[in-house]
Amino acid sequence: MKLLTHLAEQFNKLPGVGPKTALRLAHHVLFSMTPEDVNVFAAALTDGKRRLQTCRTCFSIADGDDCAICKNPNRDTGVILVVADIRDLLAVEETGMFKGRYHVLGGLLSPMQRIGPDKLRIGELRERLKAGQVREVILGTVPTAEGEVTAHYLMDKLRDCGVKITRISAGIPVGGSLEYMDAMTVTRAILNRQDMRAGQEQG
Ligand SMILES: [Zn+2]
Repeated sequence: MKLLTHLAEQFNKLPGVGPKTALRLAHHVLFSMTPEDVNVFAAALTDGKRRLQTCRTCFSIADGDDCAICKNPNRDTGVILVVADIRDLLAVEETGMFKGRYHVLGGLLSPMQRIGPDKLRIGELRERLKAGQVREVILGTVPTAEGEVTAHYLMDKLRDCGVKITRISAGIPVGGSLEYMDAMTVTRAILNRQDMRAGQEQG
């Protein structure tokens, strides 16, 4: 019984898994899975965690210093799509339409959760822009309160970098996350991106 509840407690730590589901999963592992399957499962957890690295350039997942996208010579170095986290990156990659590179911020600004600019990879983004190859930065943060604050903060911070700054279109539902949008909506949001500076310079 103790083994079962201990394992259930571990499943219960996962997002979206309540105590009942956790118990059902633990029961399944202990009573229905073969020892071989359990070994593969456990190894996937420990190996995955041990070998996980972040790309030194874009901070996506990598199994070395650089991620597969940064290593790919066919991806345009001139366009960087800034996303909050790896889940948003994966949602865009799934569409297959974006051929540029990424910058993973590591979250969004949130006074409530005490996430300030120092917690995000904004300095690193500025460094990339200063290197001079980038023509356009697309702000890919979603239109939630945090996403908006982050986009405006970035626009302010990147203004002097001399690159075009655009924002994914407001056509995406307010409060939405790229992760939960269909490929068509994500694709449209990127294709219909708007120049952030145009209005200000004229006005
Ligand atoms: Zn990378």
